[in-house]
Amino acid sequence: LMKFVAQSSQRSTPEKLDKTYHAIAIQKAIHAQELVNYYQPKVRVTDGKIAGVETLVRWHHPVDGVIYPSQFITAAEKCGLIDQLTRTVLVQALEQTKIWQKLGCDLKVAVNVSMDNLTSLGFQDMVVDLAAQANVPASSIVLEITESQLMGDMRVSLEILTRLRLKRFHLSIDDFGTGHSSLAQLRDIPFDELKIDQGFVHRAYEDQTLRAIYDASLALAKQLNMQVVAEGVENRADWELLRQTGCDLAQGNFIAAPMPAEQLGGWIKQWRERIAA
Ligand code: C2E
Ligand code: CA
Ligand code: CA
Ligand code: CA
Repeated sequence: LMKFVAQSSQRSTPEKLDKTYHAIAIQKAIHAQELVNYYQPKVRVTDGKIAGVETLVRWHHPVDGVIYPSQFITAAEKCGLIDQLTRTVLVQALEQTKIWQKLGCDLKVAVNVSMDNLTSLGFQDMVVDLAAQANVPASSIVLEITESQLMGDMRVSLEILTRLRLKRFHLSIDDFGTGHSSLAQLRDIPFDELKIDQGFVHRAYEDQTLRAIYDASLALAKQLNMQVVAEGVENRADWELLRQTGCDLAQGNFIAAPMPAEQLGGWIKQWRERIAA
């Protein structure tokens, strides 16, 4: 029995799950182009139309296999590699957007931006230059910023975000409900999308507390004229709640899990057949 327990616990927490990768390894991964963008669809709740995709980075490690961002993003932030990482992700996302647009698929592409990216105006220039080089309009790009990171001295980041918004990039506040951004910040930063954190979406149909937070977030976003995305839609009941309450966009495994770019075309075809039926 002990042997079985030892084996199964080993299986449920494989070594790679506990590992945080360090500077040199991450630096090498960036140079070796081992960071690969996956894309998760965001669809319109009213008619199922595909509105865009969110870029979620994966590390295809030559030995350890697929590594998730929770194991290296924070480390990249701490060791000053997050600008390089965001750049790599953005370059791939822009190239991919151009390919999809050539195929007649007008997808908005969202990229996750760390608050640590928003410390110098150089970031603004980088985003503007890369988009221009790729010939992708700013209005096709959404920058997602996590709510819990919106604290402390926001002067520089506010300046960067405002400039990007003036250039018509879209700004999205991510994981809404998990942080403690003040209502004043929501007024000051020109966000045009709010993503209700998955923790308040999945099972909100059967849990009063989750439902209260979900409803309040949705109402706030509507009042502020922001598009609302519910993330973590995992089953039909989750989806039905979004329909009943008038949420704009949905994202989650019930619709599609994040996938490599090559799989997205096939998924779109299948999804269109499914919503037409
Ligand atoms: P996030 O931006 O909130 O992304 C949503 C996370 O939920 C993703 O995890 C996604 O795979 C997962 N997810 C999607 N659908 C479902 C669902 O139905 N149920 C559940 N339980 N989860 C779902 P992932 O890909 O592991 O990313 C984790 C976080 O890492 C992201 O959270 C984001 O904050 C960060 N991240 C990912 N890519 C990047 C990046 O390129 N740059 C930066 N700075 N951060 C990134
Ligand atoms: Ca996000
Ligand atoms: Ca999120
Ligand atoms: Ca999150």
